[in-house]
Amino acid sequence: MNKLSYRMINIGKRPAGLLGVEELFSRLYDGSCRPEDSDTGDRIIRGISQYNFIPQVAIKDYREALIEEYARYYQKRSGGEGLAAIEYGSWRGYPREHISWFPTVSADLCNACGKCLEFCSYGVYALAEVGRAIVVEPFLCRVGCSFCETVCHPKAILFPPRKMLEDYQPIG
Ligand code: SF4
Ligand code: SF4
Repeated sequence: MNKLSYRMINIGKRPAGLLGVEELFSRLYDGSCRPEDSDTGDRIIRGISQYNFIPQVAIKDYREALIEEYARYYQKRSGGEGLAAIEYGSWRGYPREHISWFPTVSADLCNACGKCLEFCSYGVYALAEVGRAIVVEPFLCRVGCSFCETVCHPKAILFPPRKMLEDYQPIG
């Protein structure tokens, strides 16, 4: 069996490492599944559960986060993007996608001022229609950088404890 893709996605307010997201999204897109279809959430949960454990109490959060993620994927593919895999590089010899260092935006605190987007030139952030900044490319964030935190006056941007990098152990 081919090695499955692995990536971190913010579920609720915490990052979770998930296997097989890219493959699932690609199958759904090829099967004409649209993010707004009523059964998309169930199809995503069924698909992602094949390779990942999803706690029963967190299914709603997983569903919401993954539909949002799929909507971004769908938009990119519909616009002719997204087929070429992004090369995220590595950190200390480990694949970048294995390192859960990236910002999280508090939906309650963000006032959509856009300063984080102006400040970070790596394309980590986007402004969502819901009126707040969202992290769209977590693995383009430079491991160990947290500069954008300083431009966010409402303090809506959070990072993992730096110690997590000092204690990093490879997965698997
Ligand atoms: S700088 Fe802070 S408040 Fe402004 S858009 Fe970014 S996260 Fe939201
Ligand atoms: S920490 Fe640095 S690289 Fe990461 S999103 Fe903020 S400014 Fe961009």
